[in-house]
Amino acid sequence: MNYLRRTKIVVTLGPSLDSPEMLERVILAGAVVFRANFSHGEVSMHEARIKMVREIAARHGKTVAILVDLQGPKIRIGRFKNKKIMLREGQQFILDTTLDENAGDENSVSLGYENLPDDVRKDDTLLLDDGRIVFKVLSSEHTKIHCKVMVGGELSNNKGINRLGGGLSAAALTDKDRADINEAVRLEADYIAVSFPRHADDINEARALLKAAGGNPGIIAKIERAEAITNLEGIIQASDAVMIARGDLGVEIGDAELPGMQKKIIKIARVFNKPVITATQMLETMISNTIPTRAEVSDVANAVLDGTDAVMLSGETAVGLYPDKAVAAMDRICLSAEKHHSIKSMRRTSDVHLKYVDEAIAMATMYTANHLDIKAIIALTESGTTPLLMSRVNSYIPIYGLSRYEATLRRMALYRGVYPIPFDATHIDRRVLNKASIDELQSRDILKNGDLVIITKGDLIGVHGRTNSLKIVTVGDLPA
Ligand code: PGA
Ligand code: MN
Repeated sequence: MNYLRRTKIVVTLGPSLDSPEMLERVILAGAVVFRANFSHGEVSMHEARIKMVREIAARHGKTVAILVDLQGPKIRIGRFKNKKIMLREGQQFILDTTLDENAGDENSVSLGYENLPDDVRKDDTLLLDDGRIVFKVLSSEHTKIHCKVMVGGELSNNKGINRLGGGLSAAALTDKDRADINEAVRLEADYIAVSFPRHADDINEARALLKAAGGNPGIIAKIERAEAITNLEGIIQASDAVMIARGDLGVEIGDAELPGMQKKIIKIARVFNKPVITATQMLETMISNTIPTRAEVSDVANAVLDGTDAVMLSGETAVGLYPDKAVAAMDRICLSAEKHHSIKSMRRTSDVHLKYVDEAIAMATMYTANHLDIKAIIALTESGTTPLLMSRVNSYIPIYGLSRYEATLRRMALYRGVYPIPFDATHIDRRVLNKASIDELQSRDILKNGDLVIITKGDLIGVHGRTNSLKIVTVGDLPA
């Protein structure tokens, strides 16, 4: 049996993946989660892209998940008369909430967020374009922020603004986000990412809106604001998954704080059994180069060693020249990093108190799999919870999540070491269910006679959260 990569690859949709041939190459190279970035473009554009992803994936029999990433209260400048300006160090510049959106020039530019002049104080540091441009606030009045340019350079239309240290008042969900939540439900998104949450209530509010819209996608909390760090545990507990959004987070807490914070977030997410995506600038230079830098290779590998479930590509696949090569690079880097012994061993300590039966089964399965010569774990699942719990434990044994629900299969695509397989157990006689599930994997050339496997399931097939049995069987030994 070939070793399967456990770390999942998330790619961002964009013009570079609008060619069906390129998108197909990216799917075949191993991307399984597709991010529609609602910060850009119309819903109709995202809808067309999502449709194409699903069509091509289905053609190849692949299960993929769609992630709708809400824009959130990203504060942006307006546009310049000539698209961009050059800022000199030491010059003064005004951010003006009353200026026409398109009237920016060398002296001032409009500002979309009206409360910003009230939020900032003299001597605050404002970072534009992910920190490439740095302003110091000289004074702030009702509608204008007077700044001094500390680090200059080119500044172009619609670039984002952050304040060093965070603390801006904007709520996580804007009116646009509320409308987009309804669209995400209509498009049957599998995950929805809440941008810039400050505390658990932002996540709870998104969940209430999703429910009202009649949908149930997993909620991903993007950790990208200084306040989110203060409320990390609450936010993670309230969410279904976490994204370490290093772009904005690095600006708010300072880039040097990022590596340590990444490890901390992954650790806490593990405690609460939530999957984690590590995002932004992972292979940034591959936007225009065919190979990554050594530093980028190390960054991706270290995220794997930290225990991330998934690594994400942004500009590399959305606007880059080599999306397929970027995915292929992630594939090979993750595969090599996973050979490292530190992630093969059980990391869970034995003194944890288990609350639920399915949790106990998941832990017992992983312990057994890691200590006996098990080839594969077959988890018959309704909601995907048992495979999720299993995937929290370090192992190199593949976990096959078998389910009759499309939504469950798609959601499992994000979990480290879990491979979704469509399988409807409801019409199969209980007495031959083990054999039927093994047959399903054998028909896919995953197992051969003599392989030892673990099968988990509930007594009541078709009922959620009831996994209560673990069975160890040898392939080929079961009567038909
Ligand atoms: P974004 O989020 O790409 O939507 O800004 C990711 C990040 O901030 O790193
Ligand atoms: Mn961001």
